[in-house]
Amino acid sequence: MSRECERLHEKFSALPRLSDGYRKEQVPNNGLYVVFENGEAAHNTDRIVRIGTHTGKDNLPKRINEHLYTPNKDRSIFRKHIGRCILAKRNDPFLEQWEIDLTTRANRAKYAEKIDFEKLEEIEQEVSAYIAGNLSFVVVEVENKQKRLATESAMISAIAVCLDCSPSKNWLGLHHPNRKICNAGLWNVQGLPG
Ligand SMILES: [Zn+2]
Repeated sequence: MSRECERLHEKFSALPRLSDGYRKEQVPNNGLYVVFENGEAAHNTDRIVRIGTHTGKDNLPKRINEHLYTPNKDRSIFRKHIGRCILAKRNDPFLEQWEIDLTTRANRAKYAEKIDFEKLEEIEQEVSAYIAGNLSFVVVEVENKQKRLATESAMISAIAVCLDCSPSKNWLGLHHPNRKICNAGLWNVQGLPG
């Protein structure tokens, strides 16, 4: 199993690295993205900390932009995870408000008085700054949706069981309330073994 994981790390860490300020044309319309994080190493290279893809056709650029560079946690579980960890790390009680999904009009109305929107904006900016300062990613083109999803799932499984891949003791994800993230060292919950 760990030979498989090593092979994945060799392959993906060698691809052209993109980060904040990347150009749209560097991302194919359909495919997978693989994220690396400063301070995280494995298999003699950067450690893979997240794998993601998309279901909608031609949606890869949009998904990457939503996950990494659009300040709206409710459009991105990845941003939500990072915000949770930033807040949990310093015991910030705003965590409770961060958990509330404000996507629907009903929820926005229901929580209008309860949410500190100024603080929400601050945390979104903090998440963006963390991502811009610490994360980079690579992309691979995969046109076929079934193949994309199968590859994503196989990669998450291979990395999650690999004994040579573990988070550094300073990894932000260790502050996540969901132990699955901590144990696997991945910013993915879906697809991780229970
Ligand atoms: Zn590994």
